[in-house]
Amino acid sequence: MPYLEEIWQRKWVTNNGVFHRELEKQLCEYLGVEHLSLFSNGTLALITALQSMKITGEVITTPFSFVATTHALHWNGIKPVFADVDPVTMNLDPEKIEAAITPQTTAILPVHVYANPCDVERIETIADTYGLRVIYDAAHAFGVRIRDRSILEYGDMSVLSFHGTKVFNTFEGGAIICRDEKTKRRIDNLKNFGFVDETTVVAPGINGKMNEVQAAFGVLQLKYMDQVLAQRGAIDERYRKAFRNVNGLSMHDVPDYCTRNYSYFPLLVRPEFPLNRDELYEELRKHRIAARRYFYPLISEFPMYRGLPSSNAQNLPVATALSRQVLCLPIYPALEQEEQERIIEVILACAWRNRRAS
Ligand SMILES: *Cc1c(COP(=O)(O)O)cnc(C)c1O
Repeated sequence: MPYLEEIWQRKWVTNNGVFHRELEKQLCEYLGVEHLSLFSNGTLALITALQSMKITGEVITTPFSFVATTHALHWNGIKPVFADVDPVTMNLDPEKIEAAITPQTTAILPVHVYANPCDVERIETIADTYGLRVIYDAAHAFGVRIRDRSILEYGDMSVLSFHGTKVFNTFEGGAIICRDEKTKRRIDNLKNFGFVDETTVVAPGINGKMNEVQAAFGVLQLKYMDQVLAQRGAIDERYRKAFRNVNGLSMHDVPDYCTRNYSYFPLLVRPEFPLNRDELYEELRKHRIAARRYFYPLISEFPMYRGLPSSNAQNLPVATALSRQVLCLPIYPALEQEEQERIIEVILACAWRNRRAS
């Protein structure tokens, strides 16, 4: 509340205000990055990141993500080319990326899905070999580190989302992380209609500015990140213990050299489980448990993309299977232990049910 009064008294409510600059500075420190530009949401940040590098032609991306990843390409007049994912990381498979390259390819847009790191080193090698840009959709990967380096430091740019459903949020919000000050300046101009001073407009920019109320909320929330991560971590641990030896349920493990942010808890419902994924989803719904089928359908299955040659399910067997098996269980700091135990009981009862019957 004091923050709101401060904004009110200052009468500086948006356009690179005091809290805006403070949040950029604090996020750079917290995340261990040097150049970060705040945005009003992650989708505009993605669209602007592509604009800022004048990406055109074809861009290779994953169908196993939130639809905004591909929409950002579409809004730039870029043709999305879907490549299949790796069954373990659920992220773009480097071999499939390489196989999808054509003379029109200009960039790769991978996603660190559920904050599982992509194979950043192999992607870098491919990008260097073929002269491609890399923009990571890091919407899920807030605070993740690989061997003590921020995951956001890989590629030409990374994009974060601070939407209300993400680990760190400003209700709506996002950011671009880039490699140098000059690029950051260009991004900052682009998010403010292309203005560089009062009368000079150098590019057809957009309005992607974050306002002071959002930024103040971000500054406030950043103070509680340790607590948020500890609470999420405890929930993650309890789910893992409960499902470790359940036939037909599998969980993803992140390699030891990567930190986790517990942003999602994806459970894979394999064919050996007595219920299929949709049946388990319905069973949970009956018990008023809101699990999410993230990511189903695949982006390549939506009407505006399904006609693309790369959208063919035969081109995407792994992503297709995953999207039929995955169920993201509730994970948020306010989830009470009792409520979580109830969720676990419902799922374990399903695992039991047919074992008795058979
Ligand atoms: C949330 C999300 C976005 C979009 O971010 P917004 O801030 O909601 O615009 C983009 N990509 C992925 C993978 C996301 O999960």
